[in-house]
Amino acid sequence: MALTSVVGFPRIGEDRELKKLVEGYWKGSVSAEELKEQSAALRAKHWNIQKEAGIDLIPSNDFSLYDQMLDTAVLFNVVPSRYRNLGLNDTDTFFAIARGYQGEKGDVTAQPMKKWFTTNYHYLVPEITEETEIKLVGTKPFDEFEEAKAQGIITKPVLIGPYTFLKLARGAEGADLHLTDKIVDDAAAAWVNAVSKLSGAGAEWIQLDEPYLVLDKTEEDIGLLKRLYAPIVKAKNSSKILVQTYFGHIADVLEETANLGIDGIGLDLIEGRDENLAALNETKIPESVTIFAGVVNGRNIWRNNYAESLGLIDALKTVVSKVIVSAACSFLHVPFSTASETKLDANVLRHFSFAVEKLSELSQIASLAEADDSERAASDVLATNQALFDGSRAQTDETVEKRVAALKEADYTRLPVRSDRRKIQHEQLNLPVLPVTTIGSFPQTREVRVTRSQFRKGQISAEQYDAFIAKQIDDVIERQEQVGIDVLVHGEFERNDMVEYFGQNLNGFLFTSKAWVQSYGTRCVKPPIIWSDVSRARPITVKWSSYAQSRTDRIVKGMLTGPVTILNWSWPREDISRKLQTTQLALAVRDEVLDLEAAGIKVIQIDEAALREKLPVRRSDWNRKYLDWAVPAFRLVHSAVKPGTQIHTHMCYSEFNDIIRDIDQMDADVISFEASRGDLVVLDAIQKADFETEAGPGVYDIHSPRIPSEEEIEDRIKELLDKMDVSKIWINPDCGLKTRGNEETWASLKNTVNATKRIRQTL
Ligand code: GLN
Ligand code: ZN
Repeated sequence: MALTSVVGFPRIGEDRELKKLVEGYWKGSVSAEELKEQSAALRAKHWNIQKEAGIDLIPSNDFSLYDQMLDTAVLFNVVPSRYRNLGLNDTDTFFAIARGYQGEKGDVTAQPMKKWFTTNYHYLVPEITEETEIKLVGTKPFDEFEEAKAQGIITKPVLIGPYTFLKLARGAEGADLHLTDKIVDDAAAAWVNAVSKLSGAGAEWIQLDEPYLVLDKTEEDIGLLKRLYAPIVKAKNSSKILVQTYFGHIADVLEETANLGIDGIGLDLIEGRDENLAALNETKIPESVTIFAGVVNGRNIWRNNYAESLGLIDALKTVVSKVIVSAACSFLHVPFSTASETKLDANVLRHFSFAVEKLSELSQIASLAEADDSERAASDVLATNQALFDGSRAQTDETVEKRVAALKEADYTRLPVRSDRRKIQHEQLNLPVLPVTTIGSFPQTREVRVTRSQFRKGQISAEQYDAFIAKQIDDVIERQEQVGIDVLVHGEFERNDMVEYFGQNLNGFLFTSKAWVQSYGTRCVKPPIIWSDVSRARPITVKWSSYAQSRTDRIVKGMLTGPVTILNWSWPREDISRKLQTTQLALAVRDEVLDLEAAGIKVIQIDEAALREKLPVRRSDWNRKYLDWAVPAFRLVHSAVKPGTQIHTHMCYSEFNDIIRDIDQMDADVISFEASRGDLVVLDAIQKADFETEAGPGVYDIHSPRIPSEEEIEDRIKELLDKMDVSKIWINPDCGLKTRGNEETWASLKNTVNATKRIRQTL
């Protein structure tokens, strides 16, 4: 039978055990010893599940207490001295890098986080400076290999590959990393050490994750790849090296990669299918190289179509000599098991496959891959699978289809043009220069979460729940007035999540109860599922936004989630295009925007937190495969509002230098984005592109509990003033405040307002 390989398994646990464990450790309710023991138990459980499912190549070191890039950095001594100098123990130093530290031993911000390629997972960006000496200092991968061995499982240890690690690393303060010979040689030596240790410990396969290979590359990049791998393949001894790619194709370097002297290449045959297949057809792959055929999707939750996967494997076998049936990427990005979804109908549930179910898909595909035509024709497994795709699931809504078909060019254009609207808005809104606002949510305290859950369980009535939310809004409005914020928000207390809350009020969505996916650290999200055509079932935000506005004379900003973000943070359908799904969503949100406006809301923020997330990895695909429909979808949402209504958008990142014109094309009046944790290069881009949209680059980082001082914020605002026209600057934190506590939130906002007032006096 063909062998099966898993790229990575969700470490958070069936019941988010890891979240509870790590957060318990932070709070002091879990000891260091318990943290160690219980995370080992979790690993043991996950290995065992894979073993029971018949997986041959089970990964180890795919576990992490926070993030696998941070693990790799710590393993190879890439720890900036500002963290080391705190003098904390290893575990606490690790968490200080991840979350920042403010206490007896010092005050440091967290290392920046960025989205992991096109996923909603965030990794910590390694920082390599002149003081960095890359060398193997940790033992995590070896310890975990031994741990599994003691359990009777020879795992396939996983390391982030050196190419990807170096390409993702930055220099001091977020600057581009200049790769010196020393860095490259030290890195090569460090990985060589790790590989030979794993080999010495008895690893049969060693997986080096190289997702960065799916990006465009230069000649130098290819040189770097060769230079890093030449010593590694010499050090591998009897172990085999698997270079695992995912999230796209490597057609441009398949030949070079196959000839590095490695033993296996993991190819994504979901996202990079056509290009990877074409390249395989054109390239002579050495006989010694096994192709790990990534046919089971790690990015979506629909059942695998076995006939398609088998077609792929059959085709592969005609061009390469050795094939292993593999996941297309780590299962980190899908929930644990459909077995936890007791509320979904069996007829619905049979269409879904989470990490645990994907293990059996791998096994079943591997066994069918060996079967001949008559065996396949007689296979019940195959017949049952086939039935899922016979068309009987088709869920269409004629009204929605007609509405989409009737759309015209004019529906995508807001008039008058932005510069004319701006004058009208400035007159009508009458805000001070450098207006201060927030991104929408305020701390979701335990009380808020408990009350929502009581309401959901029917323990309190709708009236009681509404009264509770109203009280939260009253308080937050009053406190914002006291602190001196200019454009207020209602705080989003009624929302569990910015996508789920909308989905619950749209036709066409399904919800899970425990389908959590890690987003960063211990933070998880539970994306809803797009099951059928989408339309708005009822007004969504009008009630609470109008209520909040009725409580104050200041302007309250309405808060919506945009269509691209709803799509990107849901599990999309695979039977219709993403473009069509987004257009349906845009029409639903458009209905909400117009209702908000009619209810007297003058500023409306449409969050597109996840717009950049799914920007294709290769530049040549950006427009054609994505922006050409994603940007118009946003315009469709707001094109019908009055000139005086100010449309804001928010994005959770700052890397849009290269799509800055596309962002401007969304035609929002104001945008807020993250800038405090990343670098400020985006400000140069804004300046250079004559960016028309008014902008609020975040003045402090909300992902960390530390409180920025007034001086720090003043300095930040001065940096903004250097690069931007003062009349176009907004002052705000870099994201919503829901994950923060009230104490640090109000202190930080007070400092923000005070800093802004001081700057205003100097203008
Ligand atoms: N309005 C949302 C909030 O403040 C935006 C969240 C986000 O950007 N992720 O929570
Ligand atoms: Zn955000």
